[in-house]
Amino acid sequence: MIANLYQHYLKCRKINTDTRQIDHGSIFFALKGPKFNANEFASEALAKGASFAVIDDARYREDERYILVDNVLKTLQELARHHRDQLNIPVIGLTGSNGKTTTKELINAVLSRKYNVLATKGNLNNHIGVPLTVLSILEDDHDMAIVEMGANHVGEIQQLCEIANPTHGLITNIGKAHLEGFGGYEGVIRAKSELYHHLIRTSGVVWINSQNEVLNNMAKRFANPLFYPAKGDYYHCEFLKASPFVEVEAENGEHITTQLIGKYNFENIAVALCIGKFFNVPEDEANQAVAEYTPQNNRSQIIRKGSNMVILDAYNANPSSMALAIENLAQMEARHKIVILGDMKELGPESASEHEKLGAELSGKHLTDIYLCGELIQPAEKHLSRAHYFPTKVELIEALKTVKFKDAVILVKASRSLGLEDVVEYIR
Ligand code: ATP
Ligand code: MG
Repeated sequence: MIANLYQHYLKCRKINTDTRQIDHGSIFFALKGPKFNANEFASEALAKGASFAVIDDARYREDERYILVDNVLKTLQELARHHRDQLNIPVIGLTGSNGKTTTKELINAVLSRKYNVLATKGNLNNHIGVPLTVLSILEDDHDMAIVEMGANHVGEIQQLCEIANPTHGLITNIGKAHLEGFGGYEGVIRAKSELYHHLIRTSGVVWINSQNEVLNNMAKRFANPLFYPAKGDYYHCEFLKASPFVEVEAENGEHITTQLIGKYNFENIAVALCIGKFFNVPEDEANQAVAEYTPQNNRSQIIRKGSNMVILDAYNANPSSMALAIENLAQMEARHKIVILGDMKELGPESASEHEKLGAELSGKHLTDIYLCGELIQPAEKHLSRAHYFPTKVELIEALKTVKFKDAVILVKASRSLGLEDVVEYIR
């Protein structure tokens, strides 16, 4: 079955899962989602030019172009695994609670100076995104691949490792993200360490942030881990400052001014340079790649608004990344510091207490103004005497229309689903 399907794949090298985007001659995988059953769209995919449609509901089968399987998702994953088995190139797997996409993009920028690299597109890091990424690796074209792996539950990273079979890997960090699905912080540690277990089993290469205690402890079972970024490590660099852009002194002494804000980006930069060194990218080229990298998609973007500077970080939020972003703001030099913060989602039973803690953190900082938005964040108010609270974004926007900021740095951060970037146009 898989061998047959693989022959079809080798002819077209194109996989589609969305009928809005069908490549001519592709194989369409009719995946099921919570709200849809793509078996229903298989005929449309074929009409739009797909050569085959993989389905798991016999009722939709019309002719031999429909390939009936037990489970479309499993088939996609098995096909990807089969493809991976044929490839003989380094595959860098990366996971972690925060900074995966940024780190992946930085590594990609550095390695692309010397190699043809295939990296996960955007944030396609789950049980569907990883097989799709693997299936887009072409051995004739790509020297290596970087695969971002995300998870909400224990066991998922292991499953993704079985598909992508990383030969090299790193965990960016372990923080408090998706606590709900993992059943608490211990679960997060267990889940992320599945990448290490895979690399130990397969004698893979691992890069480890020597400054991170949890990762350091987990790494003890590796024979030759490659550490960064402290003196004496395999790769060494120094954090210089972050006001607002992170500046770093690279191992060769070069001073790099990046286009990234937030001190936390130092570790993302350090591992990208470390991996560049490992794969023999010339140091000046690697440093330049880091300097030129600009983040996309609301990940820590700087937006100037008159005399104000908005730090737009509305791509995601959890207790760890929130604390770091606030700390980063606190350390910046600015006449006024203002936060516009929204809900942190997926925290499960710890949601109320984590939002309350956020309020306590904010109360210890010298902030000119605090705006809170969303249903979950209200407990933060408990520790704050003069925060402005708005249950909805609409109410927040109405309030922002009536104020004018001056010489302020304004941090805008919340979980993705809030779409808090919408408020930026009303900041004056
Ligand atoms: P996702 O789980 O959505 O895939 P991700 O792990 O890919 O997220 P990024 O998209 O790179 O993470 O970054 C999201 C946000 O996480 C950033 O905007 C920043 O607030 C925070 N962040 C980035 N790097 C770090 C880091 N090293 N430590 C802590 N927080 C970080
Ligand atoms: Mg990501």
